[in-house]
Amino acid sequence: MGNHPYAAHRNEAPTCEIITIGSELLLGQIVDTNTAYLAREMNKAGIIIRIRTAVGDRVDEMKEAIGAALKRSHLVITTGGLGPTLDDVTREAVSQVAGAGLEYRQGLMDEIEQMFRRYGYEMPDNNRRQAYVPAGSIAISNPVGTAPAFIKEIQGRPVICLPGVPRELKYLMTHEVIPWVRRRFDLAEHVITYHVLKVVGIGESGVDRLIGDLIRPGQNPEVGLLASQGEIKIRIAAVADGERGAQALIEPVETEIRSRLGNKIFGQGDDTLEGVIDSLLNKKDLTLALLETFTAGLAANRLFTAPSSRLLQSCVIPDQKRVAEYLCQGNVVLEESAAITAALKVKEKGRADVGLALLGFIEGKERNLVLKGCAAAAGDGIAKAFSWEMGGDLFTLQARGAVIGLNTLRLALL
Ligand code: ATP
Repeated sequence: MGNHPYAAHRNEAPTCEIITIGSELLLGQIVDTNTAYLAREMNKAGIIIRIRTAVGDRVDEMKEAIGAALKRSHLVITTGGLGPTLDDVTREAVSQVAGAGLEYRQGLMDEIEQMFRRYGYEMPDNNRRQAYVPAGSIAISNPVGTAPAFIKEIQGRPVICLPGVPRELKYLMTHEVIPWVRRRFDLAEHVITYHVLKVVGIGESGVDRLIGDLIRPGQNPEVGLLASQGEIKIRIAAVADGERGAQALIEPVETEIRSRLGNKIFGQGDDTLEGVIDSLLNKKDLTLALLETFTAGLAANRLFTAPSSRLLQSCVIPDQKRVAEYLCQGNVVLEESAAITAALKVKEKGRADVGLALLGFIEGKERNLVLKGCAAAAGDGIAKAFSWEMGGDLFTLQARGAVIGLNTLRLALL
């Protein structure tokens, strides 16, 4: 390992910042796909992305962004601004941050001229700009475009400047940058492994109450939460030399999280709630009938996307009176014991083994809607119900309601 600042942090992964350059990014004329690509590739190589920035084609702002990134991270990658025109100023910005001049490279010039010759064009004069790199840089030829890339070490920290065109960026990352970064940071075996646990039936703050002490950003392994529409992902990320080492770091943390959250964890990795329910129904050889009200078929839709859906019948009735008629009741009672009776009726009407009744009626206007809901799953030796009240917009009430209904069914089948 060389004598660069990263050496002091050998047991941690090196950190990287991404700076995308180009005024079109700030105007919203193009979508920044380069950052997502770079983040994925760098992560795979064992580098942690900490901060991403977008700047326009202005040397002063570029210098500021690069200077700040160099203070915080072991490595900086930029994309864009390497073209031949006067507003392509990444070369200038990096050379000024480095306090070095620009250096003409005849080798790069020859390659650019050759590229033009191959396509039968005469090279415009301004393409000569692209044969300059900050003095002392490692120049990287670009066989799939005209903009050469370069790496300039500034006080022991590399700044890697790549073209903005995604196709060129990908080529240079795969063939040049990733191998170079692996050598430079001694990452031959270095991997970042993720394990994702999926949670339902508890909010983000509830999860935080139970495992908050394990969520410490910057630790190895690192535990993080990601919440979306009633489901929460717990991501455990470990950095180690080799997959086995990473798994060994993840395992005890995962065991601890599982012991604290119990059956609130419904799956892991790519598991979906509907997929888990489908395999429970399959394992027990049970079929399902479903009645939905305010969720407008959302629960059925999710169950139906599972590869071997056991759903025999689903019915959507938004009108309260008609729901009562369907259930052969005088009116719909949003209480757990009444919902179980309703679920048994749904099962009977659908000639299935299990019935799921997802009942609720929305009141209020526009964004200030209020829902009182009750979900129940019932069958032979199976009975589970849950009631709740919630406010919000229609989309949220429906999406959450479908998750609650599906989770009630999952818990009933466990
Ligand atoms: P070239 O000389 O080949 O144009 P360059 O480094 O100068 O390379 P830019 O001029 O900044 O690159 O961008 C070229 C094109 O690449 C843009 O017009 C856009 O289509 C695409 N591009 C640039 N940055 C990004 C980005 N962050 N995400 C996705 N596409 C991008």
